[in-house]
Amino acid sequence: MLKIKRFWIVGLGLVFLVSCSTTKKTTVLQNPQTVVIKPSDVVENTVVQKDTVSLNKQINQQSSQKNTIDSNIALSSDEQARLLFNTGIHKEYDFAQAIHYDWRKPSYVMIHHTSQNSTAQTIRTFQLPHTKVSSHYVIGRDGRVVQMLNDYMRGWHAGRGKWGQISDMNSVSIGIELDNNGFDAFPEAQISALMTLLDTLKNRYSIPQLNFIGHSDFAPGRKDDPNVLFPWDKLAARGFGIWYNESYLMPAPVTFNPYDALKLMGYDMKNPEAVIRAFKKKYVRTDLTGVLTDRDKAILYDLYRKYY
Ligand SMILES: [Zn+2]
Repeated sequence: MLKIKRFWIVGLGLVFLVSCSTTKKTTVLQNPQTVVIKPSDVVENTVVQKDTVSLNKQINQQSSQKNTIDSNIALSSDEQARLLFNTGIHKEYDFAQAIHYDWRKPSYVMIHHTSQNSTAQTIRTFQLPHTKVSSHYVIGRDGRVVQMLNDYMRGWHAGRGKWGQISDMNSVSIGIELDNNGFDAFPEAQISALMTLLDTLKNRYSIPQLNFIGHSDFAPGRKDDPNVLFPWDKLAARGFGIWYNESYLMPAPVTFNPYDALKLMGYDMKNPEAVIRAFKKKYVRTDLTGVLTDRDKAILYDLYRKYY
């Protein structure tokens, strides 16, 4: 008898729970405006949206709240990000929430060297409030990969510079720091771990081959990382960045304009000498003057024919 009573109590409890969960679902499904979303769709749609366009008072309130925050108060990175997120809604316009969306994906990868002596030292530096720098990944000489920032977040690694028409590279790129003092060669284990990471990023975010660049490409004259020993040729062979074909090198024709070719590659030609140094550090490696020799021009011409 006791067993039968227990059975009924458990049974009633279950009926109550099921009815609670279905009540909510029924309400949502009864709304004729509700769009049925497949589980595969990546959307955040927890609230039934109104079909009428209306001035969003809530957003206005959020914006005015923001203005009341004392700018002298030190905000955490999370709080700063949240404030910034709110400024993406412009209070002067009407607002109607879209329901189909996801996060913007990174479309560039920028490679750096840390100019420090260990992975631990680099991580400490990135975690000091006053440094104002960060990167998504740090790769040690032993091949250990430490992720410091979600791929979808905006790191502070590129700074001032230009590549093609892009000046705000932080907004569109993932930053990878290689533990290196600026002079040493990059050990095999480190490059191997980098290749695996690049492979993952390239596939996950459909990053084009030409969009794997170095910090010195983006900021020639200001930055010179990764150092001259970085194996861009090995990377290009795996589809990350570009490289020339030594056996097909031929003299560039007289009509070939190297400045135009460098500009087409993405270099900012405001300081041509700095660009040539950056180009030569990456592709020539031996002579690092700011003047293009015939061989340098032949390398540039080969890259130009092959990729542009
Ligand atoms: Zn850098």
